[in-house]
Amino acid sequence: MNVPPKHNRKGINTQLAHGGYDPRSFHGFVNPPVVHASTVLFPDAQTMKTRNQKYTYGTRGTPTSDALCSAIDALEGSAGTIAVPSGLAAVTVPLLAFLSAGDHALFVDTIYNPTRRFADTMLARLGVEVEYYEPEIGAGITDLIRPNTRVIFTESPGSNTFEMQDIPAIAAVAREAGVITMLDNTWATPLFFRPLDHGVDISIHAATKYPAGHSDVLLGTVSANERCWEQLHEGFLTLGTPAGPDDVYQVFRGLRTMGVRLERHQTNALEIARWLEDQPGVKTVLHPALESHPGHAIWKRDFKGSSGIFSFVLEGGEAQAEAFLDALDIFGLGYSWGGYESLAVHVYLGDRTVSARNYGGSVIRLQIGLEDVPDLMDDIAKGLSAARQA
Ligand SMILES: *Cc1c(COP(=O)(O)O)cnc(C)c1O
Repeated sequence: MNVPPKHNRKGINTQLAHGGYDPRSFHGFVNPPVVHASTVLFPDAQTMKTRNQKYTYGTRGTPTSDALCSAIDALEGSAGTIAVPSGLAAVTVPLLAFLSAGDHALFVDTIYNPTRRFADTMLARLGVEVEYYEPEIGAGITDLIRPNTRVIFTESPGSNTFEMQDIPAIAAVAREAGVITMLDNTWATPLFFRPLDHGVDISIHAATKYPAGHSDVLLGTVSANERCWEQLHEGFLTLGTPAGPDDVYQVFRGLRTMGVRLERHQTNALEIARWLEDQPGVKTVLHPALESHPGHAIWKRDFKGSSGIFSFVLEGGEAQAEAFLDALDIFGLGYSWGGYESLAVHVYLGDRTVSARNYGGSVIRLQIGLEDVPDLMDDIAKGLSAARQA
């Protein structure tokens, strides 16, 4: 949709700096206009009747949403992208656009918890049969596919515990069976993983995270290949869920610096993850870019980098986890991630069904921000020391 192909083959930071919008299309202003709109006027009755002009109504796209969506299309290699008001809407809108009563849908068991909640409540109520699979299933997913399987919904690495999936194998099985694959790609961003290049049909992002980057905007994007774009777009227009123009603008603005921010998130997080592996009281570090991670080979084969969020297993139980969190000073205690600042959370894993396992301690998720690594290490060391004394 409206892709200026001009920057497609340039380096990633050049694409991020210049993609999506041509300043000459709007009087030379470097940034696109923020168009607040419901009504769009037509020049005459005939044009109004046929709607034969580029913009027709606020819910159907504006120059602002086109700038963001075409920038994302170039990054994802997609045929079209929609922008919706939250990352969770970027999960629910495509599921509603493709699933019908009587369909069977497969979800990875390590899915983002609100996705599971949507599947178990609203999809179930609408007559969709929901089943979970183990993240390590790979091509073995073929055994779970039924004649009425319509969608496989994945997220790799897994939410909170970071299991890697063999996405090309899963997508190949799905393609063969005529099943649509959707992947929540929030962790990697299109800079580190391009799902459509690996056979996935629909790539989903909580742009709230790295694209926005400042913990102050909610937005989701959904990008589809040629095969699925028309149905996704129809579903989006039918549901009437466009993101607001100011939020779209903020995310578009965030994209310009996402490459350099991610580089820093990546190196900070890796440095801290490696250091954590040798700290007393730390049982395991769950970060797919570490050689010790069981999914490291898949990560290395398919991904171009790693972002700033990972988990570690802290020895002990609830008391140790609380002591760790309460001793932190720089790390904030809060949900979400992808912003410039570091965060920590004791993750809840009680929702897992087919992949439930005992990690032998408390799983603590860290979002590593853009602060200086020695300061973050000092903060974590304080937390670990408090946990040992708890
Ligand atoms: C945060 C997140 C979402 C939801 O995004 P919101 O904008 O907070 O609704 C969806 N998927 C993943 C993997 C996320 O981390």
